[in-house]
Amino acid sequence: MNFEQVNALNKLLSSQKRIAIVPHKNPDGDAIGSTLALSHYLSKKGHKTHVLAPNDFPKFLKWMPGAHEILNFERHNTETKKYIAEAELIFTLDFNDFGRVGQMAGCLENASGDFIMIDHHQQPSDYALITYSDVSMSSTCEMVYTLIDSLGDNDLIDKDIANCIYTGIMTDTGSFKFKATTSKTHRVVADLMDKGADNVEIHQWVYDTNSPSRLHLLGCALKNLVILEEFNTAYITLTQEELDRFNYEKGDTEGFVNYGLTLDNIRFAVIFIENKEEGIFKISFRSAGSFSVNEFARNHFDGGGHINAAGGKSERPLQETIDFFVSLLPQYKKALTE
Ligand code: 5GP
Ligand code: MN
Repeated sequence: MNFEQVNALNKLLSSQKRIAIVPHKNPDGDAIGSTLALSHYLSKKGHKTHVLAPNDFPKFLKWMPGAHEILNFERHNTETKKYIAEAELIFTLDFNDFGRVGQMAGCLENASGDFIMIDHHQQPSDYALITYSDVSMSSTCEMVYTLIDSLGDNDLIDKDIANCIYTGIMTDTGSFKFKATTSKTHRVVADLMDKGADNVEIHQWVYDTNSPSRLHLLGCALKNLVILEEFNTAYITLTQEELDRFNYEKGDTEGFVNYGLTLDNIRFAVIFIENKEEGIFKISFRSAGSFSVNEFARNHFDGGGHINAAGGKSERPLQETIDFFVSLLPQYKKALTE
């Protein structure tokens, strides 16, 4: 955060405010961790806060302190709209464009409160009074830590806040192994542990809660893996019928896309997951090295994200989606193979 942003934020927070805090649709560990951490911090400062999500989030994040007070636009529509409309400040976390909140976008567009964006994705849109955007950050959670620290409130970080921030850093860095993990990330994590973060337990609560059906779904996904050696690319498909067969629950496919990258020489891994209700295939893209999946997702699949991790969608049927995807690869052959 730069000096002007710290001053502007300090000024906004100098009197008690009604505050809405919004993560992106299909919130992940970083989105839920950062919104809850910010909410705990701002309530400690005397503000009235609500975390308002576009939709529900996976079971493996429900242990988080404050998770049960999160309202979601799909299930608590009237209340969510009311709190957005009443908010004097609206923090949007872990996304940078209203397109990322699905049906909730209209509600944000019509809001009268001032927006504050905290986000680490590429190419932020211009909707906020304060845009705290930093693509070099490991996670939005690390940014929330930095924000609290910059406002001189490091002492307010208690065990609950530390647990929330730790979770988002851990999930967004693939347990501290992705490139965006810096020495500063580790110093932040060390401080969070000093403040009581349950590092061993958090790992178990997030990663060691598989159901047998989820492991069987993973088996199905791996069976469906297709390798395109010529392009150092691997992709997986999962249809709605397959999800239903293995009693799919929200969050069950988290991390599946990464298996493609564990293959020798594979630099581009993709998963196409059908969502019949929305009439789309939700797509996750991952890359190793300099191939930008953010650009790929943005240019061809109405999406975006980071250089090595991005998402998008397709409204075409499965075979057409795959044919279209494969037809794009020759133009990227150089980037994928040299
Ligand atoms: P995931 O594949 O795990 O859902 O997402 C990977 C990264 O891409 C995350 O940082 C996520 O926020 C971003 N992302 C996922 N889907 C979309 C999308 O449809 N649009 C944009 N702009 N970003 C996305
Ligand atoms: Mn994130």
